[in-house]
Amino acid sequence: MPIFMSLFAASISLVMLFCPLSTTAKSPEITQPTTVISDLKYFHLEHKDVVAVAVETCLPAADIPDPSSYRLEPQYRVKTQTNSIAITISGQQALPELSNKNLYTKVTPSSRLSQIALADKENELALTAAYNDRLTQPQITTVKRKRMINPDNTITFRTYVVVSFADMGKIPAKTIVLDAGHGGTALGATSNFLLEKDLNLDLALLCRDLFVNHGYDVYMTRTDDSNPSLLDRADAANILNADILLSIHNNSMPEDMPDAAKKLYRGTTALYNSAAPKPAKELAILIADEVAGSLHIHQYPLQDRPGLVLLNSSWVPVVIVETAMMPHPQDAKMLSQRIYRNEAAQAIFQATEKYFAISSLTVGGNQP
Ligand SMILES: [Zn+2]
Repeated sequence: MPIFMSLFAASISLVMLFCPLSTTAKSPEITQPTTVISDLKYFHLEHKDVVAVAVETCLPAADIPDPSSYRLEPQYRVKTQTNSIAITISGQQALPELSNKNLYTKVTPSSRLSQIALADKENELALTAAYNDRLTQPQITTVKRKRMINPDNTITFRTYVVVSFADMGKIPAKTIVLDAGHGGTALGATSNFLLEKDLNLDLALLCRDLFVNHGYDVYMTRTDDSNPSLLDRADAANILNADILLSIHNNSMPEDMPDAAKKLYRGTTALYNSAAPKPAKELAILIADEVAGSLHIHQYPLQDRPGLVLLNSSWVPVVIVETAMMPHPQDAKMLSQRIYRNEAAQAIFQATEKYFAISSLTVGGNQP
């Protein structure tokens, strides 16, 4: 969703400005910290529309004895009428895009959701959504983002107020968030005249088509040459309460390795986080097996990487797929041909279908 990336970039700088304004009492139970409404995200999927408003606060690390268990609880009130819902959220507004607007024009009108209006009030944002009550009923949840530790020893906490409009009366389609790694100026690996960011995007688009054609609800973190932040990529999966998040990459060897040595290694692997709220080692095994078998390439041992941001900020099962090894001439030749990229996408799709078939995963409750 590139249209929101500029909003996010703006929110970072504005939040930094807002940090010193936070009320940093020694007794946080008495004084409420300053909260800021810093971002708005909108997701349009085949079977649901989802709107998420970000509320943030920024506190000195010293005031939060246990940051991992701290959760910012947004203050909001809800009014429902026939075919419309109004949610008024407390917080200063950090983004001009969120204030003084009668209509939020970035919403894609759907049969479920016809419009969203925003109204700016003093220290409040009122969001009104018009929907078709024969097709959907709104559900409101809150979704936490992983805390951000700032260079000035403050911590930014963000929680989204999420309003979801899903199709009623059907078995919910499984939701897949597909993430094409890197993008924009972040090229990823570069080898054999190939750019990893481009290969990742094409593979992700091929995967998208397969999942969509089989009835899945699919959201892509990017569909062009943009570079969403890692937290924004994870947010998409968390806000949508996705069944899985798949991040598509291609592998390389360390920069300081001699070129001749780099060319010795080829094959596929997958990364997961065993310490995640919903670890996805089984999915990683299935994907690496299927990709290696389908492309007839070597498989490297899976990597348990709890330190990677995408893997430790997603509350849903997440796997990073390292499809093949870009410096190796044969892997590179294969990756450069769409027929093989299609094979790899098919393998990722088949592995995911197997995962759902053997897994007892149910939708809901993905937050820690
Ligand atoms: Zn990569």
